[in-house]
Amino acid sequence: MNIAGASAQLFPFDNSYARLPDRFYARHLPTVVAAPRLIRLNIALARELGLDPEKLATQEGVEMLAGNRIAENSVPLATAYAGHQFGSFVPKLGDGRAILLGEIIGRDGIRRDVQLKGSGPTPFSRRGDGRAGLGPVLREYIISEAMAALGIPTTRSLAAVATGETIMREMPLPGAVLTRIASSHIRVGTFQYFAAREDTEALRQLSEHVIARHYPEAGRAGNPVRAMLDAIIARQADLIVKWMLVGFIHGVMNTDNMSIAGETIDYGPCAFMDFYHPGTVYSSIDEMGRYAYGNQPHIAQWNLARLAEALLPLLGKTRDAAIIEAQAALDGFATRFEFAYAQGFARKLGFGNVGPDEITLVTDLLSLMDAEGADFTLTFHRLCDSTDGPQNDAVLRAGLSDAVGIDAWLETWRTRLAQDGMAATTRRAMMRAANPAFIPRNHLVEEALAAANDGDFSPFETLLEVLSRPFEDRPEYAAYAAPPRPDQIVQQTFCGT
Ligand code: AMP
Ligand code: MG
Repeated sequence: MNIAGASAQLFPFDNSYARLPDRFYARHLPTVVAAPRLIRLNIALARELGLDPEKLATQEGVEMLAGNRIAENSVPLATAYAGHQFGSFVPKLGDGRAILLGEIIGRDGIRRDVQLKGSGPTPFSRRGDGRAGLGPVLREYIISEAMAALGIPTTRSLAAVATGETIMREMPLPGAVLTRIASSHIRVGTFQYFAAREDTEALRQLSEHVIARHYPEAGRAGNPVRAMLDAIIARQADLIVKWMLVGFIHGVMNTDNMSIAGETIDYGPCAFMDFYHPGTVYSSIDEMGRYAYGNQPHIAQWNLARLAEALLPLLGKTRDAAIIEAQAALDGFATRFEFAYAQGFARKLGFGNVGPDEITLVTDLLSLMDAEGADFTLTFHRLCDSTDGPQNDAVLRAGLSDAVGIDAWLETWRTRLAQDGMAATTRRAMMRAANPAFIPRNHLVEEALAAANDGDFSPFETLLEVLSRPFEDRPEYAAYAAPPRPDQIVQQTFCGT
């Protein structure tokens, strides 16, 4: 099959990353696949990006989304990066199964990457086959789109295409390619790659690129690299708070999976926590619980310290001066995180302001939920109804194994709410916007993927529909809001690489 084609209008690419020096990436074409078939096109996203969904769904469009046909102005490449994987530094990782086709500028004027994931081996593949299975592709599609609907910064999924080929994992699986959209695919590990090579010139060029692309205001600061580091730290703190507020567990917070733009990236064995417990881990490869729910803030901080280290050659005139800048920037994480975390949870409880009383209420409720096996999402969602008065408490109490603790808590909560001046309707609206009804529950995701593997995509489609409006009560989808029955509980998730 010929992979050249004059299709500039489908993806009007403009490639700033490809203009960086050669050592930032390896130019590489996607591998042609046997029989591409469109499984899902994200029509709304395509429109937001200024792309034509009808053209994307044509045979020519699908061939592009499979990597079989390359747009005229695309410069396909695999980016170079390093990373700390579960704490151990790997100096060379890179895109082993992803190819950046190019960048497009959306209707909002923002530049975004268009990347194919699962499109064949690259010079960074090491022992991997460069492929992705249908299950992991649809999983990333579901969860990234659910995150976006929840208002959490994330890479997006533009399309999923079946390759018509079989890939080998523990068993043969159908192959697929995901088209991923990201503000960029630059990671903490991208900086680490050049720092490990003592390539200060590349670090400088990468910083300039990141500042121009993601943090233009840092470019006007006295110390632009310090200002960039501050801004990255702030965005990460805000992002992790958002994860914590919905019970999201990334699962593989390696430094190569942390986006410089502050988006959630690389959905592998990620999961939403059912029953609240800070030590919750789903990932089969996270035996030590390094990336447990409650450990995520600490790990984010650790990863950002690795970023600050990589930036040392640029942060100050001397090494000592640079260390002082790095330390001051890193100190900003805890302050920002703790404030946003307390405020976010207070909002979930219906408080516009956060003081010591609200923080105590949050901590007490979480301890109760932990002790009594309460479903994280549902408990908060049901609390919205309890604002109307104790007559609505029954459902909330039913979700906890022992009602005594929650009754005392509810009384204190109501007393405190009465002292807070917010109008009831305002409070309800605020709480409803903070406490989703629908999250991608693990058992529902697994069910949808199992059906898709058998050729039935309707559970996948329905799940996407439910998750597209997570804050609305939709009685027809009540079953999707319920916690898993004991026989439905998912204990482990797999990265599927
Ligand atoms: P991940 O854990 O998915 O973030 O991937 C870690 C590293 O392994 C990255 O450099 C990936 O590109 C690479 N990788 C993961 N799966 C594959 C695969 N099937 N083939 C080649 N490289 C892979
Ligand atoms: Mg990764």
